[in-house]
Amino acid sequence: MKIVHYPHPALRCQAKPISSIDKKIKLQIGEMFDLMYEAKGLGLAATQVALPFQLLVMNVSGDPDKKEHEFVYINPTLVERKGTMDGEEGCLSFPGLFQKVRRAKTIKIHAYNLLGEKVEVVASDLASRAWQHEIDHLNGVLFVDKLGIIGKLASRGALKELEEEFKYAQQRGDIPPETEIKALIDSLLSES
Ligand SMILES: [Zn+2]
Repeated sequence: MKIVHYPHPALRCQAKPISSIDKKIKLQIGEMFDLMYEAKGLGLAATQVALPFQLLVMNVSGDPDKKEHEFVYINPTLVERKGTMDGEEGCLSFPGLFQKVRRAKTIKIHAYNLLGEKVEVVASDLASRAWQHEIDHLNGVLFVDKLGIIGKLASRGALKELEEEFKYAQQRGDIPPETEIKALIDSLLSES
């Protein structure tokens, strides 16, 4: 498992709801936390590790020792948003790119935890931003889609570089060709 970078097709897939929490998914969650901490992120969505499932891990403290801030959420939906805020945002799938994104200041989410229990979360500020960013991922939406015209122009160079890197990685054989990636995602989507 590794974190995929833009423009990997997995980042654009609509993740599928999870219907059962098995051993395999628990192992994947552990790996996702490891990758998130290694990359110094606050959250990671399953689509970012090329798994097309409605699953995300989060620790807004970013500190692996603060286990009380570690959360796993399954099938999350945003049910309420209030206010707006502007702030800088980055993404583990866009290394080195930071841009200002407007988000709702406070949100309410419904999701399931690892025990399969329904949970309601209200989050503000940084946590709210992390939530909106990660839920977007599960719908194939990326933070660069949310930029204003100036942010879009300012990101063009960085995006082009990532596209070139991706192309070279495919040429080297480090990343499979597009058709192979899509077939893999489709096979995961049609499982169970
Ligand atoms: Zn992201």
